[in-house]
Amino acid sequence: MSYFKFCPNCASQNIQFENNRRFECFDCGMVYFQNVATAVAVIIIRRDEMLFTVRNREPKLGMLDLPGGFTDPDETAEETCARELKEELNLNIDSERFKYFKSFPNNYLYKGIPYKTEDLIFIVECPENAELTLEESEIQSVKWIKMSEINLEEIGFESLRKAVEEHLKLYI
Ligand SMILES: [Zn+2]
Repeated sequence: MSYFKFCPNCASQNIQFENNRRFECFDCGMVYFQNVATAVAVIIIRRDEMLFTVRNREPKLGMLDLPGGFTDPDETAEETCARELKEELNLNIDSERFKYFKSFPNNYLYKGIPYKTEDLIFIVECPENAELTLEESEIQSVKWIKMSEINLEEIGFESLRKAVEEHLKLYI
């Protein structure tokens, strides 16, 4: 089902928005692509522990998450990692230090609108004496969880659950 009721150019209802991907207006000819959005998530490791954030907003309120977010225009994915860690945790890590791991497609439902994202997963070691300050609008708290004690069911997003599961295999 399309979530656009009118053409944004001419307000015609003679439109098609197949799979919420390619929009076409049959009256004015406007074509618009809603492309997959790039997002990053970072697995932060400290000794035998992994850092999780607890979500403070929908979707997946109260569930475990990884720090990360959408890539801004003209930004490298590594720069997104560094910016998001600074914004969410006040953690300063140079963008050169993030190591790419894997990508997972994801669905992100925000205010009733489904977005398709490609989550790029990066791994980084946390500096030993780093102090974290949380951005409280997005994050309730952080949890360092021993890798052997991670319960995948508590992770809110399917793509991140798979990413963590894949990453844990490296340690078994
Ligand atoms: Zn139109």
